[in-house]
Amino acid sequence: MLKDDLPRFRRLLLAWYARHRRDLPWRVAPAAPRGAAPEPYHVLLSEAMLQQTQVAAVVPYFLRFLEALPTIEALARADEQVVLRLWQGLGYYSRARNLHAAARMVVGEMRGELPRSVEALLRLPGVGRYTAGAIASIAFDERAPILDGNVIRVLCRLDKVEADPRTPAVTARLWQRAEEVLPRKRVGDFNSALMELGATVCTPRGPKCLLCPVRAFCEAQAAGAAERLPLAAKPKPRPLLRRWTFCVRHGDRYLIEQRPAKGRWASMWQFPTVEAGEAIDPARSLPGVALRDVRPLGEVAHGLTHREYHFAVYTAAADRTADMPGRTWVELAGLGAYPLPRPHIRIAAMLATA
Ligand code: SF4
Repeated sequence: MLKDDLPRFRRLLLAWYARHRRDLPWRVAPAAPRGAAPEPYHVLLSEAMLQQTQVAAVVPYFLRFLEALPTIEALARADEQVVLRLWQGLGYYSRARNLHAAARMVVGEMRGELPRSVEALLRLPGVGRYTAGAIASIAFDERAPILDGNVIRVLCRLDKVEADPRTPAVTARLWQRAEEVLPRKRVGDFNSALMELGATVCTPRGPKCLLCPVRAFCEAQAAGAAERLPLAAKPKPRPLLRRWTFCVRHGDRYLIEQRPAKGRWASMWQFPTVEAGEAIDPARSLPGVALRDVRPLGEVAHGLTHREYHFAVYTAAADRTADMPGRTWVELAGLGAYPLPRPHIRIAAMLATA
């Protein structure tokens, strides 16, 4: 159905977007002249933050980040620990490190200007096909398709796709479809409108078909299949990883350690944490530190997409060792200067109220 009347489909969607779009800080203001484009750096930053994260959670981070690092040059110059600190709590920290590396590449090799073509954008660290398409279309109005979770859902419902959209063949088909539906002009607004429709009307559960501007084109709606499409992924088992975390005190300071430069929560700081074993041996549980007076403080569970962590948290005392590489002693009030993974922010809060 969509094939037959694409110009009308585009008009209806763009008109709906003009009336109903949310006013978000990385978009041009609603009162801006038609055709005004947002700052490319703002699009890059917002797209990095929005991967795996809800809009409402991103807004305060985006504003705080821009206040501290208002330009791509400022981001390129910033210390990695500052960038991680600004990202703290958003999770998926590789996004922050990639964003930082991308800014350095843009400033070092591209005279500070983000490229406008998808091919050139794809050279930037952390920029995949979706992000490249979003920057090219939204910041530069290039005719580039995008395919994120929202767009996949909308397209699968419009075309009543009954196959699993995660398979390579269906993904390729959806990319092709996302390109076919694009207008020649106002591409950024059109892509934003598709995503906005998925986020606010064509929602995963309870799509509001009666309010949908493109209902007349929707095969899933006509067949009463909107709610069950796209097909859900089979749930994967998530391994449970058990950890012991020690809040080791000497006087009014606590020992913290920096995580390795690679892997989960890379280069961030934490209370010393080891894989949980059979039973705690205070002399050996924490390499390099003999613990005294080990007592349970509480437990913290932290779920990620592919695994689940369980931290059994203990307080302990120790003699103050000299700072070892990657370890230091800080007062609780001074922890704010260090980027901490979310479970350790919760552990610090437990300590503060203990
Ligand atoms: Fe989604 Fe319903 Fe609109 Fe179809 S009619 S695109 S299912 S909101």
